[in-house]
Amino acid sequence: MKKALPHAFSLLVTVLLVVGTTARATPNEAGNPSSNEAILVRADDIKIADFETFGRLIDNLATRDAKLAPAEHWKLRFLQGWRSTWIGDYEAGRKALEDVADNAPDNLLRFRATATLINLLGVGHRYQDAFIRLNQLQEMMPSIRDRRARFQGLGEASQLLSSAGQFEQAEAYAREMMENPPPGQTMCVGAQHVLRAQREANQLRTLDPMYLRAVEMCDATGNDVFADTMRADIAAFHLSQGRPAEAVKVLTESREGLRALNYAVLMTEYDATLAQAYLKLGDLANARRYGLSAVAGSIKGEFTDPRRTGYGVLYEVERRLGNVQAALAYHEKYMEADKAYLNDLSARSLAFQIVDQQLLARKAEVDALNKQNEILRLTGALDRKEVETGRLYIVVLLASLGAIGWLLLWLRRSQLRFMKLARRDGLTGICNREHFVEQAQRVLAYGARSDRGACLILFDLDHFKNVNDTHGHAVGDEVLKRAVDVCRRALHACDVFGRLGGEEFAVLLPDCSPAQARARAEQLRLSIAATSATQARPTLAVTASFGIAGTTQCGFELHRLLVVADAALYRAKRAGRNCVFMGDTGDIPDSPYLSEARG
Ligand code: GH3
Ligand code: MG
Ligand code: MG
Repeated sequence: MKKALPHAFSLLVTVLLVVGTTARATPNEAGNPSSNEAILVRADDIKIADFETFGRLIDNLATRDAKLAPAEHWKLRFLQGWRSTWIGDYEAGRKALEDVADNAPDNLLRFRATATLINLLGVGHRYQDAFIRLNQLQEMMPSIRDRRARFQGLGEASQLLSSAGQFEQAEAYAREMMENPPPGQTMCVGAQHVLRAQREANQLRTLDPMYLRAVEMCDATGNDVFADTMRADIAAFHLSQGRPAEAVKVLTESREGLRALNYAVLMTEYDATLAQAYLKLGDLANARRYGLSAVAGSIKGEFTDPRRTGYGVLYEVERRLGNVQAALAYHEKYMEADKAYLNDLSARSLAFQIVDQQLLARKAEVDALNKQNEILRLTGALDRKEVETGRLYIVVLLASLGAIGWLLLWLRRSQLRFMKLARRDGLTGICNREHFVEQAQRVLAYGARSDRGACLILFDLDHFKNVNDTHGHAVGDEVLKRAVDVCRRALHACDVFGRLGGEEFAVLLPDCSPAQARARAEQLRLSIAATSATQARPTLAVTASFGIAGTTQCGFELHRLLVVADAALYRAKRAGRNCVFMGDTGDIPDSPYLSEARG
């Protein structure tokens, strides 16, 4: 049976549930425990199975808080923090849990509070705080014998690390969960974490039957949320492998059941994947339906991946239907959601790096201070008694002090280098999408002020999926790098060149007329077509299709340029690929904005 979950705090469910699914007590008050300690244990056990009684028990205890023993007081404080978190009162939850994590004398309780806190901070986008807590959690981990608590801690750690792109460590924790589940748990939860980490890391090449067994196991043990989360990943994997029909099948079979759980976040993941799959299948009505649902289900003000995907699909649907106004409006929303989502993504990995390096730096500083003290102490001792080995020791200490100085300097430099890397696409080294948008907007703003026209070229490699399918992903990567290299050589220093995603690229040409842009695009097209794809496969032909938009026609807003160039690129694909099309007002004939610009 699917158990309904309260809607507002579904974000927390995945992890908080882990602690609750093994509730040992029955949900009625038959046992009626008398001692405070017994009440606390019982409340802890039933907190999810019987939230109401749980609330009553701890409210009752709270009236007697002054009379509780210190250990009982802390346990109560933890449960209060947990409850606030569960009902979505994050501020109160955070305060209580921080108090417990920092001050409770019991190691295990501090660990549990820290784990819950990590989840809460992640949900609230307080990533630096979350990583500081993660470090504390990792330090406590070796001493934690309680298997349920350890399991929860591993789950939190895995999820947070995965969200910051630290997939290897995330997967290692998830594997421990899978191989060593506490009593009452199976490999289900761990397998779900492993699958997600692998998919997010783009490491999934084939679908190990183990995952399908895990889904069955999750179903059999009533772990519906985990079963459906795995289905979402499996469907997304099918979609990425060009099997949209299979993605639709997996999701539609389980969507009704998921609806009963009221788990809004996962539902938007389902809908975003369904929308993309239907779009691929050419079923525009269903693509629109699920696109709208993905967008509507996203929590207000949150820029999640499903939201940006939803808007992306809606834009595509309206464009194909020729609804120009709606297409433009959705594209604007897509750009906004995309930018915010990417910002959040890089905030997460930046927070990880910053905390990581701060901790290293702090350790180095403490080390340096200890060494300085040791030198002072030894020099004092030497005044009284000259010892040759003591001198030698001082020399060694001074040398290691120097090394620490270097380490600190290196850390500061590597922090700067990391900030730079966060703007680059990992495979090709050119601007990633986020940075391209930023740079292009800056160039366009300058062009608008100085009244200098600019042009945008979009291009997309042709039949690239075939390259991957025929020669493998590694060759595909090599082709992408080569294509970027030849383009780079043809571009000017002031051009902005970025990878928008997959095998789609954009170039913004400042101070450039449409006629010049066409010539430049033609030059890029010929360069790509003339290059042998890889050294190992000189005969593998690679081409690209191009679409161009100019500010004379679209104005200086990037998203309008993107829409017009995208429409032209679409026409280039339909015209047989390996060609250049100019975006023109004919692409979107009814746009009032464009007729305004023309007039
Ligand atoms: P079209 O000519 O219509 O553009 O066809 P296409 O096959 O190029 O387009 P489609 O969108 O169907 O496929 C794009 C493929 O690009 C699917 C995806 O697996 C692959 N891809 C995306 N990013 C990467 C990457 O970083 N490396 C590799 N090797 N492949 C990638
Ligand atoms: Mg392509
Ligand atoms: Mg493409």
